[in-house]
Amino acid sequence: MDNPPSIARTSAAELYDAHVLKSYARAPLTLVRGRGSRVWDDQGNRYLDFTSGIAVSALGHCHPDWVAAVQRQAAELIHTSNLFRNPNQGELARRIVGYAGPGRVFFCNSGAEANEALIKLARLHGVKKSNGEEGKCYTVLCAKQAFHGRTFGGMSATPQEKIQHGFRPMTPGFEFAELNNLRSFADLVNAGTAAILVETIQGEGGIHACTPDFLKGLRELCDKNNLLLMLDEVQCGIGRTGRFFAFESAGIRPDAIGMAKGLGGGFPIGAMWVGERSAELFQPGMHGTTFGGTPLACAAALSVLDVLERENLFTHVAKESAPWLEALGKLPKDFPQHISGLRGSGFLVGLQMVGDPARYVTALRERGLLAVSAGGNVIRLLPPLNATAAELAESVSIIRTALGTLGA
Ligand SMILES: *Cc1c(COP(=O)(O)O)cnc(C)c1O
Repeated sequence: MDNPPSIARTSAAELYDAHVLKSYARAPLTLVRGRGSRVWDDQGNRYLDFTSGIAVSALGHCHPDWVAAVQRQAAELIHTSNLFRNPNQGELARRIVGYAGPGRVFFCNSGAEANEALIKLARLHGVKKSNGEEGKCYTVLCAKQAFHGRTFGGMSATPQEKIQHGFRPMTPGFEFAELNNLRSFADLVNAGTAAILVETIQGEGGIHACTPDFLKGLRELCDKNNLLLMLDEVQCGIGRTGRFFAFESAGIRPDAIGMAKGLGGGFPIGAMWVGERSAELFQPGMHGTTFGGTPLACAAALSVLDVLERENLFTHVAKESAPWLEALGKLPKDFPQHISGLRGSGFLVGLQMVGDPARYVTALRERGLLAVSAGGNVIRLLPPLNATAAELAESVSIIRTALGTLGA
């Protein structure tokens, strides 16, 4: 546990500077402890964590039930690979099917991997459409401003210069249309189109939601042309909007769903749900992962679902987000030089800033509130799903104080 004797222990900052790949512009903060909606840094400063590790810590930090479930499972059986069954994976699949609808679930370890599985599903659907011939029908239609992850499939579905630059050529088979513009999607559909993949609510792109009419339109478009409707719910799913999946409010059902972030409550796990019409496209040997769906990861996710249900956090998010959004909604009027608008629903909220959000994220952090920036000058607020009314109100007063002391 202890480092070799030295005059002064090397600081975390020095170790990062010396040894960690420079792929992130990190905040100058070393977090050492968390409890509920709070985290502490190594200087003893306390923060209200409305990043939730980017929508991951659904139950906040170190929820006692979650900790007990993970500790219990860690002492019992951690990993077996998918060469064998384990007692938790089937149960977690059953629970997800309960939310998503009749179908089957594939477990992986991240959002990008869930989306890779969706893209492979689209390719298999295209082969089926072409009577077994490969290479005829494989295009996936995605949205401009989308974010689907950093793997080659995910990046190729993410038409942002800052994501793709330096890594081209991309994987072929992706085309891009305007979110909430059904016509622009319909115009791209042809015999080579296999699927449509959109985030129900774009997160990294700056909190832009598909309207219910748009989702219904996509459903019809897919039905008419035998395309799979695939929804990326990696960020907006698992209760964040007050429903298990964000698409539920539109009253449609997709053919496949990618999920991850909040599912494990901090333990890495991702999943693809496939509706029964397409679930048999994957047969033994066609896809896999060594780590996906371990007893430990599934125990963590089962504990998240148990707590969400038992503590009624869907209702909590729906109820507590209303006054919070109302209070946040006054900010653009009171601070027009800084904030021009508010978007989002439930505990997935974006403040549209007038300029670069980086200075605001810093100002909030210095006053004890952690928030995440997003594309298009947006600051995201992603409280844990059990954040209290008092904590939500506290976030608003920190934002007010910070903005009040910032110059134009
Ligand atoms: C975070 C995110 C991903 C990527 O998930 P990772 O776990 O970082 O691979 C994909 N899609 C959406 C919508 C996301 O928010």
